[in-house]
Amino acid sequence: MYSEKMHQLGTNRSVIRDLFEYGNQRKAEIGPDKVFDFSIGNPSVPAPQVVTDTLCQMVKESDPMSLHSYTSAQGDAATRQAIADYVNGQHGTDLTGDNFYMTCGAAASLTISLKALYEEGDEFIVFSPFFPEYRVFIEGVGGKLVQVDSRREDFQIDPATFEAAITDKTKAVIVNSPNNPSGVVLTEDCIKSLCAVLEKKQKEYGKEIFLIADEPYRELVYGDVKVPYLMNYYDNTLVCYSYSKSLSLPGDRIGYIAVSNKAKDWKDLYAAICGAGRVLGYVCAPSLFQKLIGKCQGQTADISIYKKNRDILYEALTSYGFRCIAPDGAFYLFMETPEEDATAFGEKAKKHELLLVPADSFGTPGFVRISYCVSTEQIQNSLPAFKALAQEYGL
Ligand code: PLP
Repeated sequence: MYSEKMHQLGTNRSVIRDLFEYGNQRKAEIGPDKVFDFSIGNPSVPAPQVVTDTLCQMVKESDPMSLHSYTSAQGDAATRQAIADYVNGQHGTDLTGDNFYMTCGAAASLTISLKALYEEGDEFIVFSPFFPEYRVFIEGVGGKLVQVDSRREDFQIDPATFEAAITDKTKAVIVNSPNNPSGVVLTEDCIKSLCAVLEKKQKEYGKEIFLIADEPYRELVYGDVKVPYLMNYYDNTLVCYSYSKSLSLPGDRIGYIAVSNKAKDWKDLYAAICGAGRVLGYVCAPSLFQKLIGKCQGQTADISIYKKNRDILYEALTSYGFRCIAPDGAFYLFMETPEEDATAFGEKAKKHELLLVPADSFGTPGFVRISYCVSTEQIQNSLPAFKALAQEYGL
């Protein structure tokens, strides 16, 4: 009658969504200010004023027929060229609009890329902790997810562990830095050693192994931390980008795939991206938002608020005795749970009205994710609850 697999995916909500729904129900019961909801990664700062102003101006002044009409399947040519110019200016690449395919956010960028690459029997490597939807996306195209654990002490990647996981079936590796859920930014040394392993294995197996850079948090870094641009380190690279977090436009569904012009037969790879976009129905990303972001390259939401939240939370939680991974980017704090079972810990946290996501579905048991893209007031008000929770565990 219908696909059992799809039914299952449609009925089993993610742990994050479940907790988010629980939070909404709890807020209705006891009041929104009494519940400290750290469940979801919804940006809490508005889109930059220039984005709002440009949007209003476009709606008021542009010809409505052209503003809302279909663009070409791969996206508006002027927008793609504007993005290419910006990326070239930032990273010293020499891309053109023809290297870019506009999408409905990073989720679409990933599913299109996976669909474009997948051939029967292929495996895709992800590093834990990883965004849980990777499993859904990889298995959804028929692939097998192969999990490689990041180093527990700093959540960087150990090249030997990575190398051991690559087989002749490995089609691609997904790298997500800044990382959801750990907030860790992979160092340049780590990237270089990872790319060296990939080069070696490509030679050994006589085939391409692709690097998929999932980068919705690229601009969300604090201090002078640099996020290496992977195309500059490895030729067979696809960048999956999104404006959901950098411009605080998650509901407007806009992003892109950039295909490196140094990838083997990149024009054919790009054609496969177009084909996958077509099969998945992801042609012509939202026209208005394509054109908007074409005019707003280089803008970022005010991330100083996230930095402030991170500093308050990290300092307080570590002072209470919790072990947290120092996050350089994104808006997540990854905290080791004082008992092995993160779900049991999450349940105890709920008693203090703290909603923390157990990280089992991120492939890293024994941790919870705390999304600090909330108001600073919520962070401050939640601290006594965290302190009481620490005391309950005798920290
Ligand atoms: N990849 C990662 C690591 C994410 O955290 C998210 C969203 O939270 C996505 C992809 C999907 O992003 P988008 O909302 O742009 O589809």
